Amino acid sequence: MDFDLSAEQKLLIDSVTAFGERHFFEGAYADEEPDGYPHRFLKLLASQGLTGICLPESHGGQGGSLFDAVLAIEAMAQVSPRAADMIQATNFGAIQQIAAYGSDSMRAKFLPAILAGDKIVSVGMSEPNAGSATTEIATTATRTHNGVRIRGGKTFNTNGAHADVWVVWVRFGPGTRNIGCVLMERGTPGLEVNATSKFMSGEPYAILSFDDCLIPEENVLLDRDGFKKLFTVFNIERLGNAARSLAHGEKALSMSIEYLKSRRQFGEPLANFQGLRWKIADMKVRLESAKMLLYRAAVDADKNDGIPNPAYCSLAKLACNEAGFFAANEALQLFGGYGYAAEGPIQYIFRRTRGWMIAGGTVEIQRNQIAAHLLGKPERKEDRS
Ligand SMILES: Cc1cc2nc3c(=O)[nH]c(=O)nc-3n(C[C@H](O)[C@H](O)[C@H](O)COP(=O)(O)OP(=O)(O)OC[C@H]3O[C@@H](n4cnc5c(N)ncnc54)[C@H](O)[C@@H]3O)c2cc1C
Repeated sequence: MDFDLSAEQKLLIDSVTAFGERHFFEGAYADEEPDGYPHRFLKLLASQGLTGICLPESHGGQGGSLFDAVLAIEAMAQVSPRAADMIQATNFGAIQQIAAYGSDSMRAKFLPAILAGDKIVSVGMSEPNAGSATTEIATTATRTHNGVRIRGGKTFNTNGAHADVWVVWVRFGPGTRNIGCVLMERGTPGLEVNATSKFMSGEPYAILSFDDCLIPEENVLLDRDGFKKLFTVFNIERLGNAARSLAHGEKALSMSIEYLKSRRQFGEPLANFQGLRWKIADMKVRLESAKMLLYRAAVDADKNDGIPNPAYCSLAKLACNEAGFFAANEALQLFGGYGYAAEGPIQYIFRRTRGWMIAGGTVEIQRNQIAAHLLGKPERKEDRS
C-alpha cells in the first residue's frame, strides 16, 4: 500500500490547477453564468484533454484511469466549481452510461460531440414520485412498429436547460428487471423542457415531460435487466460528486487557515484562540479520512476494469459529502459576518456542499447501502410469512 501520489499524478494536479487559475478563476463563485451555459469554457476543457479522461482511447477518451479523473476534478473544483461541474458531466456522469453500454453506432454518434464540448449530456433519473426509490420510476417505454414511445416525466435535471441529449431512465414493463434507459434528443416531438427552476445553489434544473415521444430503436441503451448495470456505472458518477464535495471542503479549510492567521480581534490573530484552532483540526481530520476513502474507491475500480465496488463508493460519497459540508459550515462560522455575506465564496461553498448530500443518492441512502453490505437487506414482514 503506497499512500504517496506518483510524480505524474502530482504533475496532473499542478497542471489542472494552473490551467484552472489561468482560465476559470474570474467569477468562479458567482451563482450563474451571465450568458447561460459557458460553451466556450467547455471547449477549452476539451482542448486541454479534461473531457473523457478515463474513457478508453477507442471511444475517443484520454485512456487515463478513474483515479486520474478524480484527481483532476478535485484540483479543478478548488479553483472553479463550475469548471469542475463540466468535468463531472464529461467524465463521470451520463457519458459513462453511453460509453459502457452503447452500441458502436450510438457511441460514434454521441461520444465525439460530447467529448469535444459540442453537445451536452444530462441524466434524467429522478421523478416527482420516485427520488431515492429509483425502482419506482413511472416513465414508460413501449415498443411500437416504428420506434419506442416514451411517456412520463423527470425532475431536478441538472444541465437540462442546455442539454442536447438525455440518458432517461425508463421502464419497459413492471418490476425492477424491466428498468432500463434510452437516449432522448432535444427537439424530439413531445419533449418539453421547462428550465425555469433553480436549486438553492443557483444552478438551474429542468423539469422534463415526455408526451408520447417517439424515439428510434437505436436510441435504446439498456432494456431488460438494465437496472443493476445502470447503478454499476452510476457509482462512478457518485465518485465525481464525492470529489467535488471534498474539494470544496478543502478550499473552505485553506481559506479558513489564511483567514485565522490574518484576522485580528482582541489584539490577537484569530489563530491564537484554541476553540478556533480545534475547528481547523476537526475539519482536517474529516477531510483527510474522507479523501482516503475516495481514493481507495477509485484505485480499486481501476484495478477491476473500471468497475467500482458499490460499498467503497457509498463509504466515499457519505464521508466526502459530510466532510465537505462540515468544513464549509465551520468555515462560515470562522469567517463570521464575512462568511455569511452574500458576496463571499464561503456561502457559495456552503450551499453547493449542502446539495451534494442529496444529489446522486442522499447520505441516508448511502448509509442504507453500507448497512446492507454489512448486515444484508432488512428482513420484511412478508419475508417471514
Ligand atoms: C443539486 C442536485 C442535483 C441533482 N441533479 C439531478 C440530475 O441531474 N438528474 C436527476 O435525475 N436527479 C437529480 N437530482 C435529484 C436527486 O437525485 C434526488 O433529489 C435524490 O435522489 C433524492 O430524491 P428526492 O429528492 O425525491 O427525496 P426523497 O427520496 O423523497 O427523500 C426524502 C428524504 O427521505 C430520505 N429517505 C428516502 N428513503 C429513505 C430510506 N429508505 N431510508 C432512509 N431515508 C430515506 C432521503 O434521504 C431524504 O432525506 C439532483 C438533486 C440535487 C439536490
